Amino acid sequence: MACIFCKIVAGEILHYTVYEDSQVIAFLDIFPKVEGHTVVIPKKHGATIFDFTSDEVGVVMQGVRNASMKVSDILKPDGFTIGLNHGEVAGQAVPHLHFHILPRWKGDGGGSMHSVVSTENMRDVREIAQLF
Ligand code: 5GP
Ligand code: ZN
Repeated sequence: MACIFCKIVAGEILHYTVYEDSQVIAFLDIFPKVEGHTVVIPKKHGATIFDFTSDEVGVVMQGVRNASMKVSDILKPDGFTIGLNHGEVAGQAVPHLHFHILPRWKGDGGGSMHSVVSTENMRDVREIAQLF
């Protein structure tokens, strides 16, 4: 088994569990960007949301909610940034689906989702809408 997160599921790598149920485990990120930085993963291996059924993705989202509530209770942040680096181009280093929970505090200096990428010379939104 090469996948580092599958090794965490198997209990082969030391980790600090934040939340766990039969299908999901959430643990503290080993290289946190903020106190309480948590990673939520399905216990079943798969790289992206496209490798799971919509029901399975729903279960992972429930895990994200449950883990966030736990972090909220304990660390009392002012809010959260919750998201995933989905695919290598988006910065996904570990090819096992995972959501990041980043507790946020007023004045922490962090940005919003809108700071992730900003593209110039885009097609107009009306032109993109035609593709759908
Ligand atoms: P990615 O860049 O793939 O979205 O995020 C992977 C995250 O997993 C990173 O934030 C990284 O610090 C974390 N991570 C990688 N290996 C381990 C590990 O062995 N244990 C824990 N707890 N976190 C890890
Ligand atoms: Zn895996």
